[in-house]
Amino acid sequence: MDDVRYEAFRKDVFERMWTELAPFEDRIEREEQIPYAEVNPIITDLGLWGLMVPEEYGGLGLTVSQYLPILSELSKIHGGIRVVLHVHNSNAHALSVIGSEEQRRAVLPGVAAGTMSVAFALTEPDFGTGADLGSTAVRHGDEYVLNGHKHLISNSDFASHFIYFAKTDPDAGELGVSAFLVERGTSGFDIEPLPHTMGCKGGEHGRITATDVRVPARNLLGQEGQGVAQLEETLELSRVLVAASSLGTAERALELAVEHSRTRITFGKPLAQRQAVQRYIAEMAQDVYALKLMLGDCARKWDAGRRIPAEASMTKNFGLEAVGRVTDRALLTFGGVGYTRAHSIERLYRDARLNWLEEGTPTIQNMVVARAFVGGHTLGDAS
Ligand SMILES: Cc1cc2nc3c(=O)[nH]c(=O)nc-3n(C[C@H](O)[C@H](O)[C@H](O)COP(=O)(O)OP(=O)(O)OC[C@H]3O[C@@H](n4cnc5c(N)ncnc54)[C@H](O)[C@@H]3O)c2cc1C
Repeated sequence: MDDVRYEAFRKDVFERMWTELAPFEDRIEREEQIPYAEVNPIITDLGLWGLMVPEEYGGLGLTVSQYLPILSELSKIHGGIRVVLHVHNSNAHALSVIGSEEQRRAVLPGVAAGTMSVAFALTEPDFGTGADLGSTAVRHGDEYVLNGHKHLISNSDFASHFIYFAKTDPDAGELGVSAFLVERGTSGFDIEPLPHTMGCKGGEHGRITATDVRVPARNLLGQEGQGVAQLEETLELSRVLVAASSLGTAERALELAVEHSRTRITFGKPLAQRQAVQRYIAEMAQDVYALKLMLGDCARKWDAGRRIPAEASMTKNFGLEAVGRVTDRALLTFGGVGYTRAHSIERLYRDARLNWLEEGTPTIQNMVVARAFVGGHTLGDAS
């Protein structure tokens, strides 16, 4: 999207997200579900389902630099709506990278319109991730037969398709993992909800049991054995997007803490005039600023066509630490009322904690970063 059109689009979306989506905050927190019948038409009208879908498939085809501010703003408004749209757009991007032209044509126009959605089914209850999978896919003629268990799979309540990772060769380590596109409703593919989450209320992250699920061989994504490379490539961008969510949550927590510090009077003075509180504010602002700069560097490099595994993982890690510190300090600035549901700070604090886990824990990010630098990675023109 060209700069002029984007600026008008961004302005309109920001305004309407605050006037039309933000009012659902209390209800989603209370009911622990998103009232899709009312929220869907707004999301569709704003074009949010298709933000990361390439234009040729009916989406808006935003660059990462254009997408990040919108995702950050959504994180301010509500973590649950953010997680649903983040997962939807990230997985649309994943399919546009690893899917064939036929697979993209079949699914992406529906994804852009919000009538279809892709979920990413990697994590398993009884195994690790990446090459350590218990799910298997065995070829029989023109079909693969899938068996296994997955859990914590976001958007499993409404996704129409699942990118399902399974072992096609259990003895080949990382080269034995492959990805398949499985349609919801395929016989033997059972989906159940998991208990509600701590924050980001309304997003659902279900459990999948695959029992002799037969999928046509053409549903293999890429080639057999490419699964680990595919998930590394797609998670790379997704980690930057999680960091953008951390930024939005942190920025909102800072805004609310500053506002509260101006109006709450103790011992005859606003909190904002107390050095201890000023220090919280300065440290929060410093975290927000640093994260913003790191995200800007990632976005510029990605939009220039570069792979950024180390930058993405460092930014994801810094983002979760930053939003952790910022929401801690914002809560302290609010004092006791911050712990009640009277203020959004309580929700932001809980929403932020998901960012530790999405797209891999800090341990995994550190492994990616160390591997890159030991392998000769440099930060190049970070500015
Ligand atoms: C709300 C939510 C939504 C999610 N959505 C999705 C989704 O859509 N798709 C999907 O596939 N997954 C999803 N996940 C799963 C998420 O990616 C994982 O929870 C996360 O990557 C951690 O993996 P795990 O839960 O298997 O933890 P575990 O692997 O059990 O790890 C537990 C702890 O041990 C550490 N650890 C584990 N193995 C090692 C090791 N070998 N060496 C050192 N330390 C280790 C970890 O770093 C972690 O601190 C979601 C999770 C949540 C909470």
